[in-house]
Parts: sequence; structure tokens; C-alpha cells
Amino acid sequence: MTVTLPDVIDRTLCEDLDRADPLAGLRERFDIDDGIIYLDGNSLGRLPADTAARVARLIGTEWGRGLVRSWTDAGWMHSPRRLGGKIARVVGAAEDEVLVTDSTSIDLFKLGAAVVQARPQRSVILTEHGNFPSDLYIAESIARFFEGRVRVERVARHQLMSALDDQVAMLLLTHVDFRTGEMHDMRALSDAARSVGALSLWDLSHSAGAVPVDLHTAGADLATGCGYKYLNGGPGAPAFLFVSRRLQAELRNPIAGWLGHASPFTFEPEYRAAPGIRSWMTGSPPVIAIAALEVGIDILLEADARALGEKARGLTELFMRLADARLQRFGFEVATPREAARRGAQVSLRHADGYGVVRALIDDGVIGDFRDPDVCRFGFPPLYTRYVDVWDAAERMVTVMESGAHRRAEYAQRAEIT
Ligand SMILES: *Cc1c(COP(=O)(O)O)cnc(C)c1O
Repeated sequence: MTVTLPDVIDRTLCEDLDRADPLAGLRERFDIDDGIIYLDGNSLGRLPADTAARVARLIGTEWGRGLVRSWTDAGWMHSPRRLGGKIARVVGAAEDEVLVTDSTSIDLFKLGAAVVQARPQRSVILTEHGNFPSDLYIAESIARFFEGRVRVERVARHQLMSALDDQVAMLLLTHVDFRTGEMHDMRALSDAARSVGALSLWDLSHSAGAVPVDLHTAGADLATGCGYKYLNGGPGAPAFLFVSRRLQAELRNPIAGWLGHASPFTFEPEYRAAPGIRSWMTGSPPVIAIAALEVGIDILLEADARALGEKARGLTELFMRLADARLQRFGFEVATPREAARRGAQVSLRHADGYGVVRALIDDGVIGDFRDPDVCRFGFPPLYTRYVDVWDAAERMVTVMESGAHRRAEYAQRAEIT
């Protein structure tokens, strides 16, 4: 269903859109408090209704009764690959190309260092100024680790193509920008990287589960992404990594640990890498957290990927239209691309008092977040966000701005987590 918004938008229209929404039923699979409007699923996704019972069963039965036998009987040992195989369907990869392991930051290090190791003649990791800080820090860590053999080159987004040359080992980018919601053309950039002999490493933290992702069609080489945002895996959920089959024999996990060994339970003194994606394991998997993540992934797999993308477009389009019509006069400016193909499931509004605005909204039951210097971020995860939520959020924003609540003295102090 392609959502085309009419000239006049009102709440009744939003209710009609919700009734026609093919994903509407999936909202019920989450534990939702209707008293708040949650637009921060791009930071921490919602709690699925079944997660608590699933985790309780794992702890009570599999751990409590099964004890060490559950590594095999309950499939714990295999769970990073099994769930990786499910996530593969979300990101357009093959089952044996994805693994659930570690955090996004650690996975960036593992994949990035492996590329640098495999491309000894090349001296550059290419990225953009606005990339997510952890991605930049990790890139610099890799450069330090290789003691200057590679350097990190940061350029403006529009200079990425021209900065690709035969010195670039790896193009490291986040698919959907965490600040503005702007989406890269993954295919064009992966193609361009390949044409100069570089590998592409994509951070999918703000795209997997938010918009359709097809790593194979895009020709991406490597990827990683976050489990606790649009995948709804819970706080600190493990991340996933993708290594294209084309590269699995060539690249080596730089943090070789026992569970990436070809035969972990013969406890050999020398490392022999396991074949395929399992070699990217290092230590024991976080079994409880993987069980929680799996509940989120199972819901996502029930959603048609196209419907998900269409709804992300519809929700973000609706919010931008409401921002234009009702919020511009308070000094808000839309920072997210208008062209649907160039944005994720997020809309960012710039405002000089952005921090106070977000705090006042949270105190009024509309949860978004703030990113320096002046960005109010609103995430619209298509799995559980309704069109009326978008309408009601805009309405409450108008009320907050009219009351001047965002200028309260208490909002002058920054909270620890924003
Ligand atoms: C959230 C996020 C991360 C977080 O990584 P963790 O190490 O899993 O906390 C990394 N990169 C991007 C782009 C993110 O949005």
C-alpha cells in the first residue's frame, strides 16, 4: 500500500490510514502503555509482549533444569548462527552469511581490522565526518592498532565518490545517518568501492528493521547492525554481522577465540578457524540476550518488507507535512530529506532550543531524543507506530511550544543521557 497523503490532513485521516495499515496487527505483539507516545524506538526499541515469558522459560527450564546439557539440548551453542539466519532474511543476505555476536562497536573492529589485514598494500579507511562517533572511534582504533600503516580519511558526504581511489582498503559508512535520518545509496557506493578494489562495510543500526535492506542486491561486502533499536532486542542486545560468502575464505577474524575454532571441544593449543561464518565468533554467546532478541526478530519476520518500507515512508511523510504546516512558525526546520528514497524511518527537526523542546515533550509524554547541536530526533518504527501517534505528537508539540514550557530553567542543565 503506497500512502499518498491528501492536501488536507486531520486526525480522522490518520485513523483511516491506521485501519488500512497491513501491519496494524503487529502492534499488539508489543507491550504498550498508551499513555505515552514513543518516538524513540531508534534508540531503544519497544518490549515485545512475549519477551519476558521467553526469557523466564530459558532461565527457569533451560538453565535451571537443563543446566550444562542445554548448550546442546536447547540449542544454545547454535543460537548465534540460527538467529543470524533469521536476521539474514531481514537484510537480504544468505542464511550462512550472518551471525549474532558482540556489540556493533566490537563487530566494526573485527570486520574493519580484518579488511586492513587482508589489504596490506592499501593505506586508507574512508568514511564521512558525520558518521556515528563509535564508528569513527573504532576506525581510529584500527589505524592505531596497525601503527600508522593505515589512516582514517574523513570527507563530506558529497565527496565520498571522488575520494575513492586505489589506496582505499575499506569504505566505512552508516546506511542511515543517526542525526538526520538521511540514507545513503548503498548500491552506488558499494559498486564504486568495488570498482577501485576497496571493500564496503555498512553499519545498518538505523536501517535494519526500519526500511527494506537488501545486501545482496546492493553488492555490499560486510555489514553490522544493532540489536536493540529497530530489532527490539532489549537494552544492550547483541549485534549482528554479515560477511559476504565471496569473502568468507579470505577474511580472518582478528580476535580469534575458542568458539571460532574449527573444533572448540578438542581444546587444541593452536588456532584453526572454523569454516564459514562461525569463525567470527570469539567467546561464549550471551544466550539469555539472544533469546530476547529472537522474540523481536520473529515479529519482524511476520512483516512484509515492502509494507514496512511503505509505512516508514508514510509515517515520516506525515510528520514532515505536519511540521511544515504547524511547527514551522515556532522555529522548527526539517533536517531529513524530503525524497522518500533518501531517508530512513526517522525525522529530525532542528530548533535553536532543541534540548529544552525534547525535555519538555518527554515531560508531556512524547518521547523523542536530542542530538547536538540542535537536532530533535523522532523515530517512527513502522512495526508499532500508528498514524494517530504522529498526529497526536504534532498536536502536543504545538501545545508545548505555545506554553513556552521548553524554556523552563530546569531544562538548561543537560541530563546524563539525552
Ligand atoms: C547505536 C549505534 C551503534 C551502537 O553500537 P553498540 O556498540 O552496539 O552500542 C553503533 N553505530 C551506530 C550507527 C549506531 O546507531
